[in-house]
Amino acid sequence: MDILKERILREATVVNADVLKLDSLLNHGVDPELTMEMGKEFAKRFAGRTITKVITVESSGIPVAFATAYSLGVPLVFARRKKTLLGDADAYVERVPSFTKGIVTDLIVSRNLLAPEDSVLFIDDIIANGDAARGLLKIVEQSGAKVAGIGIVLEKSFQAGGRTLRELGYKVESLVRISSLEGNEIVFE
Ligand code: 5GP
Repeated sequence: MDILKERILREATVVNADVLKLDSLLNHGVDPELTMEMGKEFAKRFAGRTITKVITVESSGIPVAFATAYSLGVPLVFARRKKTLLGDADAYVERVPSFTKGIVTDLIVSRNLLAPEDSVLFIDDIIANGDAARGLLKIVEQSGAKVAGIGIVLEKSFQAGGRTLRELGYKVESLVRISSLEGNEIVFE
């Protein structure tokens, strides 16, 4: 998505060779028009697949997942991220490491929000090692629902997340892929 590449070049900062800061578009602020375009693009890329729900993880995935759900005309579910001490019988819970915070959190989805008849599209802002995605896919699969695909705004393809999910057989669509952040330079694939 060329417009997104241009905005990344203008607005992102390279924190280090592993991390990009994109607060104005993904992690702190939202451009509604661009976000709706991203949603349309995901809807187009997954056209032809049965999708009954979009799922994401709070909080940075929510705007683009909302835009995608709106374009597809289906509901959105977002997993809560919490540090739980007690199990919750009414919820699916998966423990995942957080790439940016360096801590472990629990992804939580109420059982009544996913049904075995669902076919779910997972949308997220950025993929690095794929821990958040794998945790959420486990939750979807525990519910008996199908995974229709995975849409990621920004894939850092020098980290293993996207590749690992494709190897597992999922259809993964990224709007932008970055192959390197070495030397403070953003290199698109
Ligand atoms: P993963 O679980 O794939 O390792 O990391 C995914 C999550 O960590 C994303 O939802 C995203 O919010 C955060 N993340 C991963 N890499 C980056 C990055 O380079 N910059 C920012 N701002 N967040 C990131």
